[in-house]
Amino acid sequence: MYDYHVHSVYSDGSRFEPMVAAAAEAGVTAVGFADHCNLSVDARRQRERARYHRNFDLTYERRREALAAVRAETDLTVFDAVEVDYEPAAEEDIAAFLQEAGFDYSLGSVHYVGDPDVFGYDSFAAESEQERRRFVDDYYDTVVSLIDSELFDIAAHVDIVESHPDLSGLTTCAHAERVADAFQRSRTVPELNAGRFEDEEKPAAFHPEGRVFEMLLDRGVEFTLGTDAHSPDDFAERVPALRDRAQRYGIDPVCPL
Ligand SMILES: [Zn+2]
Ligand SMILES: [Zn+2]
Repeated sequence: MYDYHVHSVYSDGSRFEPMVAAAAEAGVTAVGFADHCNLSVDARRQRERARYHRNFDLTYERRREALAAVRAETDLTVFDAVEVDYEPAAEEDIAAFLQEAGFDYSLGSVHYVGDPDVFGYDSFAAESEQERRRFVDDYYDTVVSLIDSELFDIAAHVDIVESHPDLSGLTTCAHAERVADAFQRSRTVPELNAGRFEDEEKPAAFHPEGRVFEMLLDRGVEFTLGTDAHSPDDFAERVPALRDRAQRYGIDPVCPL
Protein backbone atom coordinates (compact mmCIF):
# COMPACT_ATOMS: atom_id res chain seq x y z
CA MET A 1 0.00 0.00 0.00
CA TYR A 2 1.17 3.49 -0.92
CA ASP A 3 0.31 6.29 1.47
CA TYR A 4 0.42 9.54 -0.47
CA HIS A 5 -0.54 11.94 2.31
CA VAL A 6 1.49 12.38 5.50
CA HIS A 7 2.94 15.42 7.28
CA SER A 8 6.39 16.16 8.68
CA VAL A 9 7.85 18.86 10.93
CA TYR A 10 8.08 21.02 7.80
CA SER A 11 4.41 21.78 8.51
CA ASP A 12 2.31 20.47 11.41
CA GLY A 13 3.46 16.82 11.41
CA SER A 14 6.29 14.87 13.06
CA ARG A 15 9.97 13.98 12.59
CA PHE A 16 10.85 11.88 9.55
CA GLU A 17 12.43 8.82 11.19
CA PRO A 18 9.57 7.91 13.55
CA MET A 19 7.02 8.60 10.78
CA VAL A 20 8.82 6.33 8.29
CA ALA A 21 9.37 3.62 10.92
CA ALA A 22 5.69 3.66 11.92
CA ALA A 23 4.54 3.61 8.29
CA ALA A 24 6.76 0.57 7.61
CA GLU A 25 5.52 -1.13 10.78
CA ALA A 26 1.92 -0.63 9.60
CA GLY A 27 2.74 -2.34 6.28
CA VAL A 28 3.07 0.67 3.99
CA THR A 29 5.67 0.31 1.21
CA ALA A 30 5.74 3.94 0.06
CA VAL A 31 5.08 7.14 1.93
CA GLY A 32 4.62 10.65 0.54
CA PHE A 33 5.40 13.68 2.67
CA ALA A 34 2.90 16.33 1.64
CA ASP A 35 3.50 19.33 3.88
CA HIS A 36 1.13 22.28 4.01
CA CYS A 37 1.79 25.33 1.90
CA ASN A 38 -0.30 28.49 1.74
CA LEU A 39 0.12 31.00 -1.07
CA SER A 40 -2.92 33.12 -0.27
CA VAL A 41 -3.42 36.52 -1.87
CA ASP A 42 -5.13 37.63 1.36
CA ALA A 43 -2.98 39.84 3.62
CA ARG A 44 -4.23 38.29 6.87
CA ARG A 45 -3.51 34.76 5.69
CA GLN A 46 -0.08 35.86 4.47
CA ARG A 47 0.69 37.17 7.97
CA GLU A 48 -0.47 33.88 9.53
CA ARG A 49 1.55 31.59 7.26
CA ALA A 50 4.52 31.29 9.62
CA ARG A 51 2.42 30.83 12.76
CA TYR A 52 0.41 27.99 11.23
CA HIS A 53 3.40 26.22 9.62
CA ARG A 54 2.23 26.96 6.10
CA ASN A 55 5.25 28.70 4.53
CA PHE A 56 6.64 25.55 2.97
CA ASP A 57 7.50 27.45 -0.24
CA LEU A 58 10.39 28.92 1.80
CA THR A 59 11.60 25.61 3.22
CA TYR A 60 10.88 22.85 0.68
CA GLU A 61 14.48 22.80 -0.58
CA ARG A 62 15.75 22.11 2.94
CA ARG A 63 13.19 19.34 3.32
CA ARG A 64 14.34 17.89 0.01
CA GLU A 65 17.87 17.59 1.40
CA ALA A 66 16.51 15.94 4.53
CA LEU A 67 14.47 13.45 2.46
CA ALA A 68 17.60 12.39 0.57
CA ALA A 69 19.15 11.42 3.91
CA VAL A 70 15.94 9.71 5.05
CA ARG A 71 15.82 7.64 1.82
CA ALA A 72 19.37 6.45 2.36
CA GLU A 73 18.29 4.77 5.58
CA THR A 74 15.01 3.09 4.67
CA ASP A 75 13.69 0.44 2.28
CA LEU A 76 10.48 2.41 1.88
CA THR A 77 9.90 4.58 -1.16
CA VAL A 78 9.73 8.17 0.09
CA PHE A 79 8.00 10.80 -2.05
CA ASP A 80 8.61 14.55 -2.00
CA ALA A 81 5.13 16.08 -2.20
CA VAL A 82 3.09 19.06 -1.04
CA GLU A 83 -0.45 19.87 0.15
CA VAL A 84 -1.35 23.33 -1.12
CA ASP A 85 -4.24 25.39 0.26
CA TYR A 86 -6.33 26.08 -2.82
CA GLU A 87 -7.95 29.45 -3.35
CA PRO A 88 -9.12 30.54 -6.80
CA ALA A 89 -7.41 33.96 -6.66
CA ALA A 90 -4.03 32.32 -5.98
CA GLU A 91 -4.10 29.99 -9.01
CA GLU A 92 -1.30 31.77 -10.85
CA ASP A 93 1.01 31.82 -7.84
CA ILE A 94 0.24 28.17 -7.08
CA ALA A 95 0.98 27.16 -10.68
CA ALA A 96 4.28 29.07 -10.64
CA PHE A 97 5.31 27.53 -7.32
CA LEU A 98 4.49 23.96 -8.38
CA GLN A 99 6.33 24.48 -11.65
CA GLU A 100 9.41 25.87 -9.92
CA ALA A 101 9.52 23.32 -7.09
CA GLY A 102 8.97 20.19 -9.22
CA PHE A 103 7.53 17.92 -6.52
CA ASP A 104 6.93 14.23 -7.22
CA TYR A 105 3.20 15.08 -7.10
CA SER A 106 0.90 17.61 -5.45
CA LEU A 107 -2.25 17.64 -3.38
CA GLY A 108 -4.71 20.52 -3.41
CA SER A 109 -7.04 21.18 -0.47
CA VAL A 110 -9.87 23.53 0.29
CA HIS A 111 -9.24 24.34 3.95
CA TYR A 112 -11.14 27.64 3.94
CA VAL A 113 -13.55 29.61 1.80
CA GLY A 114 -13.29 33.38 2.00
CA ASP A 115 -12.78 34.21 5.65
CA PRO A 116 -14.06 31.21 7.60
CA ASP A 117 -11.98 28.04 8.00
CA VAL A 118 -13.72 24.77 7.30
CA PHE A 119 -11.97 23.13 10.23
CA GLY A 120 -12.61 23.34 13.94
CA TYR A 121 -10.95 26.74 14.14
CA ASP A 122 -14.14 28.56 13.18
CA SER A 123 -17.58 27.87 14.55
CA PHE A 124 -20.76 28.21 12.51
CA ALA A 125 -22.93 27.69 15.58
CA ALA A 126 -24.26 31.25 15.55
CA GLU A 127 -25.20 31.10 11.86
CA SER A 128 -28.64 30.20 10.57
CA GLU A 129 -29.15 26.98 8.64
CA GLN A 130 -29.55 29.04 5.49
CA GLU A 131 -26.16 30.69 6.08
CA ARG A 132 -24.52 27.35 6.77
CA ARG A 133 -26.01 25.91 3.59
CA ARG A 134 -24.68 28.91 1.68
CA PHE A 135 -21.23 28.27 3.11
CA VAL A 136 -21.37 24.59 2.12
CA ASP A 137 -22.44 25.65 -1.42
CA ASP A 138 -19.45 28.00 -1.58
CA TYR A 139 -17.23 25.21 -0.29
CA TYR A 140 -18.28 22.81 -3.08
CA ASP A 141 -18.01 25.61 -5.68
CA THR A 142 -14.39 25.98 -4.58
CA VAL A 143 -13.76 22.21 -4.67
CA VAL A 144 -15.13 22.09 -8.24
CA SER A 145 -12.91 25.01 -9.16
CA LEU A 146 -9.90 23.19 -7.66
CA ILE A 147 -10.66 20.08 -9.72
CA ASP A 148 -11.27 22.12 -12.89
CA SER A 149 -8.00 24.03 -12.42
CA GLU A 150 -6.09 20.75 -12.92
CA LEU A 151 -3.26 22.31 -10.91
CA PHE A 152 -2.95 19.25 -8.69
CA ASP A 153 -2.52 15.51 -9.09
CA ILE A 154 -4.74 14.79 -6.08
CA ALA A 155 -7.71 16.61 -4.55
CA ALA A 156 -7.55 15.98 -0.80
CA HIS A 157 -10.50 15.17 1.50
CA VAL A 158 -13.10 16.62 -0.90
CA ASP A 159 -16.05 16.50 1.53
CA ILE A 160 -14.20 17.87 4.58
CA VAL A 161 -17.25 20.00 5.55
CA GLU A 162 -18.85 16.73 6.68
CA SER A 163 -16.38 16.48 9.57
CA HIS A 164 -17.33 19.92 10.91
CA PRO A 165 -19.92 19.57 13.68
CA ASP A 166 -21.86 22.63 12.46
CA LEU A 167 -21.81 21.62 8.77
CA SER A 168 -22.15 17.86 8.76
CA GLY A 169 -25.23 16.56 6.93
CA LEU A 170 -25.47 19.60 4.64
CA THR A 171 -23.83 17.94 1.62
CA THR A 172 -26.58 17.35 -0.96
CA CYS A 173 -26.88 15.01 -3.95
CA ALA A 174 -26.44 18.06 -6.17
CA HIS A 175 -23.08 18.80 -4.51
CA ALA A 176 -22.01 15.18 -4.93
CA GLU A 177 -23.01 15.22 -8.60
CA ARG A 178 -21.10 18.42 -9.31
CA VAL A 179 -17.95 17.00 -7.68
CA ALA A 180 -18.27 13.72 -9.61
CA ASP A 181 -18.86 15.58 -12.91
CA ALA A 182 -15.73 17.64 -12.28
CA PHE A 183 -13.57 14.57 -11.59
CA GLN A 184 -14.83 12.88 -14.73
CA ARG A 185 -13.48 15.72 -16.88
CA SER A 186 -10.23 16.33 -14.96
CA ARG A 187 -6.79 14.76 -14.69
CA THR A 188 -7.00 15.34 -10.91
CA VAL A 189 -8.03 12.33 -8.80
CA PRO A 190 -9.61 12.30 -5.35
CA GLU A 191 -8.03 10.54 -2.40
CA LEU A 192 -9.56 8.19 0.10
CA ASN A 193 -8.43 9.97 3.26
CA ALA A 194 -8.39 8.44 6.73
CA GLY A 195 -7.52 11.69 8.54
CA ARG A 196 -10.55 11.52 10.79
CA PHE A 197 -10.40 7.83 11.48
CA GLU A 198 -9.95 8.18 15.24
CA ASP A 199 -13.48 9.60 15.24
CA GLU A 200 -14.90 6.33 13.96
CA GLU A 201 -18.06 6.89 15.97
CA LYS A 202 -18.75 10.08 14.06
CA PRO A 203 -20.37 9.95 10.62
CA ALA A 204 -17.25 11.18 8.80
CA ALA A 205 -14.50 8.71 9.68
CA PHE A 206 -13.21 8.86 6.10
CA HIS A 207 -13.26 11.42 3.34
CA PRO A 208 -15.17 11.13 1.17
CA GLU A 209 -18.11 9.35 2.76
CA GLY A 210 -21.82 9.14 2.20
CA ARG A 211 -23.22 10.87 -0.87
CA VAL A 212 -19.96 12.07 -2.36
CA PHE A 213 -18.23 8.71 -1.92
CA GLU A 214 -21.17 6.79 -3.42
CA MET A 215 -21.42 9.14 -6.38
CA LEU A 216 -17.70 8.85 -7.15
CA LEU A 217 -17.86 5.05 -6.94
CA ASP A 218 -20.95 5.05 -9.17
CA ARG A 219 -19.11 7.05 -11.81
CA GLY A 220 -16.02 4.84 -11.67
CA VAL A 221 -13.76 7.65 -10.46
CA GLU A 222 -10.38 6.36 -9.25
CA PHE A 223 -8.73 7.15 -5.91
CA THR A 224 -5.35 7.39 -4.22
CA LEU A 225 -4.99 6.44 -0.55
CA GLY A 226 -3.81 8.77 2.22
CA THR A 227 -3.68 8.41 5.98
CA ASP A 228 -3.15 12.17 6.51
CA ALA A 229 -0.91 11.04 9.40
CA HIS A 230 0.55 13.86 11.46
CA SER A 231 1.98 11.61 14.18
CA PRO A 232 3.63 8.15 14.05
CA ASP A 233 0.73 6.82 16.16
CA ASP A 234 -1.69 7.59 13.32
CA PHE A 235 -0.53 4.77 11.03
CA ALA A 236 -1.37 1.68 13.09
CA GLU A 237 -5.16 2.07 12.78
CA ARG A 238 -5.52 4.13 9.63
CA VAL A 239 -3.50 1.88 7.30
CA PRO A 240 -5.59 -1.27 7.85
CA ALA A 241 -8.76 0.85 7.88
CA LEU A 242 -7.91 2.29 4.45
CA ARG A 243 -6.95 -1.11 3.10
CA ASP A 244 -10.23 -2.64 4.34
CA ARG A 245 -12.29 0.15 2.89
CA ALA A 246 -10.56 -0.02 -0.48
CA GLN A 247 -11.11 -3.78 -0.58
CA ARG A 248 -14.72 -3.58 0.51
CA TYR A 249 -15.58 -1.13 -2.29
CA GLY A 250 -13.37 -2.71 -4.95
CA ILE A 251 -11.06 0.30 -5.16
CA ASP A 252 -7.75 -0.34 -6.92
CA PRO A 253 -5.75 2.77 -5.94
CA VAL A 254 -4.08 4.74 -8.71
CA CYS A 255 -0.59 6.24 -8.76
CA PRO A 256 -0.55 10.03 -9.11
CA LEU A 257 3.02 10.22 -10.44
ZN1 LIG B 1 -5.78 18.88 4.49
ZN1 LIG C 1 -3.06 16.82 5.27
